[in-house]
Formats: sequence, structure tokens, C-alpha cells
Amino acid sequence: MPTNRRQFLKSSAAAALAAGAYRGEAAAVKAGQDRREDSVFDALAQPRATTGYEPWLEIDGDALRHNAREITRAAGARPVMAVVKNNAYGLGIARVGRVLDAAPGVAAFAVVKPEEALALRAAGVRKPILLMALTDVETGSEMARNDVRLAAFTDDAHERLDAISAAAGRPVGVHLYVDSGMGRMGIRHDRALPWIEVLSRASNMRIEGIFTELAESDADEAQLARFDTLVAAAHERGIETGLRHAMSSHALFFRPAAALDAVRTGLVLYGAYPAGASGLGTLELRPAFRLRAGVVRVERIEAGDGVSYGRNYVADRPTWIATLPIGHADGYPRRAVDGAEVLIGDRLYPVIGAVSASHTIIEVGAEPSVGVGDSATLVGPDHAAILPNELAERADISVYDVLMHLSPTLRAAG
Ligand SMILES: *Cc1c(COP(=O)(O)O)cnc(C)c1O
Repeated sequence: MPTNRRQFLKSSAAAALAAGAYRGEAAAVKAGQDRREDSVFDALAQPRATTGYEPWLEIDGDALRHNAREITRAAGARPVMAVVKNNAYGLGIARVGRVLDAAPGVAAFAVVKPEEALALRAAGVRKPILLMALTDVETGSEMARNDVRLAAFTDDAHERLDAISAAAGRPVGVHLYVDSGMGRMGIRHDRALPWIEVLSRASNMRIEGIFTELAESDADEAQLARFDTLVAAAHERGIETGLRHAMSSHALFFRPAAALDAVRTGLVLYGAYPAGASGLGTLELRPAFRLRAGVVRVERIEAGDGVSYGRNYVADRPTWIATLPIGHADGYPRRAVDGAEVLIGDRLYPVIGAVSASHTIIEVGAEPSVGVGDSATLVGPDHAAILPNELAERADISVYDVLMHLSPTLRAAG
């Protein structure tokens, strides 16, 4: 069935997450599959216009590779499963996927949404992908046809995977998802054994792994002990459960016992530290992105003049101010106004007034040292004041939000 480009993009849910699609890269996802639904990003699939001032994201492939090597080193050379859910934590799943597909320590990818798995395949990623989600038969078989491993955790997993395998016309690779105390996903550890026995007898699936997630609490050791007990019981019954994995970024620093057979990290790959970990010296990470925008307005204001909604800032002396066309809708945190600074050239300028949806205002000072068109860096590796962890600290938000809230509409560079 012929489709024009417009219909193709409209019908391809993967286009939404194959960041490449609306960043001008080719979307190689197969068209014509039904059950594609419109994306809220649909409008972005249209040709884009830009002045060059709008915010953009620079991805540093060297930093991604460096961070992957650091993780491998800290994890005693265990294979790394790169968690690239949520558009690779905001950095762009197609770009990040391509870089890490070629990184030696990265053995596989893990995602949470089926379109993320398809976006990786569309970007040319060849390594194994694990979908850590519940899938229905139709999507599950599409995943299997794209060589995506599925997570099993529901009571009906046996029948479900059976149907998926039949629909896909091939055996399905499976990782058993165990709830050892997080209470979010997985089959409860205390009733998983008979369930595993049933799955292990199915001929149309291969159990390639078994995994759990830690609540990052003082009960982590107890969780790991439960997981270990379950795996040992399965082994006693002669059941091979494959790769054991439990280690996220937090555990990499704080729960060495979680290393098991593979590590499953997201945040650290992108060059940010979990809370409390940046001073430990366990890993030397480099932020793998810069969030930037061009100055669009420079003005002098007088003492008593206000800035932004509610006159949140009032000048106590004459000063120059500048406006950047980036705001919280682009992913720069609202609360950056509580002490964040922006780097232009080699100087830092405080954020004043408010971070509104599409604009951020900075105080330039007594001299007009910035001009329209200057490039500002709001987050990046270039100064301690704008590191992701430092911004999170100053804005009193989670560092995950500094990355995860980056808008998929940002222009890509680098
Ligand atoms: C997000 C996620 C991870 C990665 O967590 P980080 O803290 O970013 O390393 C690992 N496992 C599961 C199940 C996840 O959902």
C-alpha cells in the first residue's frame, strides 16, 4: 500500500521516539503496519523552520563512550545494559543508540516502551534490546520479529508468550522480571518459583535472563538476598535462568553486591551522578550533552524596573539584562531561578525573574558584555556551575529531572 511521506510519519508511532525522524534524520521504520497511533509530536514531523537562536542540544559521543568505559571499569568488566528509556533520558534515543551500539562495553539496551525498541532498530542498532514492559500479543510479536527480548512477569506469561511466539513465527527471548521488594513491576519473589518452572518447560521461549530492581533503600540487601534465594532454588531444580541483573546507577556506587552478571544503568551513562555519589570518586563521569540557546534580546534597565511575571526581580541599580528563548517547556527547570547561572563565553550570568515556558532572563551587569546572537550554555561540562548535578542542587530538583525533562522538540547538534 503506497503511502506519502506525510501519511507515513503520521502513521508511525516510532517516528515520535526515533528522535531522528523529527531531527531531519531518515526514519527507516517500516510503514503500513496498522495500530500505529497519532503522536502528540505529530506536528514535529513537519519540515522545521529555525532562526538558529532556538534552544538546541549538543550530544558528545566521546563523553558517552567515556562514561560507558567508566561503568565497565567500576563494574569489574561486567557487560553493560544501557538503559535508554524516555528518549535516552532526553538526549535522543537514535543518536545515543548509535553511539553505544558501537561501544565495546555495552552489551545490550533496555527500554520501557515498544516504540523505543523500534526507534533503536530504525536507527540501525544491532545489539540485543530488552523491553521491560508488559506486551500484548500483537506488539509482542512485532518486538520478537525485531529481535527484541521481552520481560515476563504476569501470571499468564506462559500463554501470552506462547501466543506471541506463534504470531511471530519464532521463539521469544525472555528475561524474568522479579519483584523482590520494590512493589512496582515483576512477579513477587515468594510465588515466582512454580511460575518459573512452568515457563522453563515451554519450548517456544528461551529464558535469557532474570532481573529485579532495587528500591534504593536500606532494604536493598534484603531484596538481593530474596532474589538470590529464588535464583538458587531455580538452579537446584535444574532450571537455567541466564543473566542475573539488578544494578542501576545508585547501586553502582552504593550496593556493590548487586553487580551479579550484568549492570543495567541509565543516568551515569549520560554523565550525571545519583544523589550523594558525585564526591565519592568511584567513577569519573562527563556530562554527555550541552543545553544551549542564542541570546535574542539585550536591554538596559533602570533601578526600580521589574523583570518577568509578578516583577519577581526588581533592579536596585541600572543593569543590563538578556533574554534566552528557552524555558521550562524545553526542559530547563522552572526552579533554575533559585540560584542557577548560565555560561556565555567564559562568564557566568545569574538567572533572574522567572523561567517561563519559553524564556529565561539573565542579569548581565553594569556593562553590556553579551550581544544578540551569542550562544549560552545552560547545562553542560564546561563549568562547574552548570554541571547537571550542580543545576539540580541549585534548583533543588532531582538530577533525573534535569535530563528526563529535556524536550524532544530540541534541535540536535554535535
Ligand atoms: C530506569 C531503570 C534503570 C536505570 O536506572 P538509573 O538509575 O538511571 O541507572 C534500571 N532498571 C530499571 C527497571 C529501570 O526502570
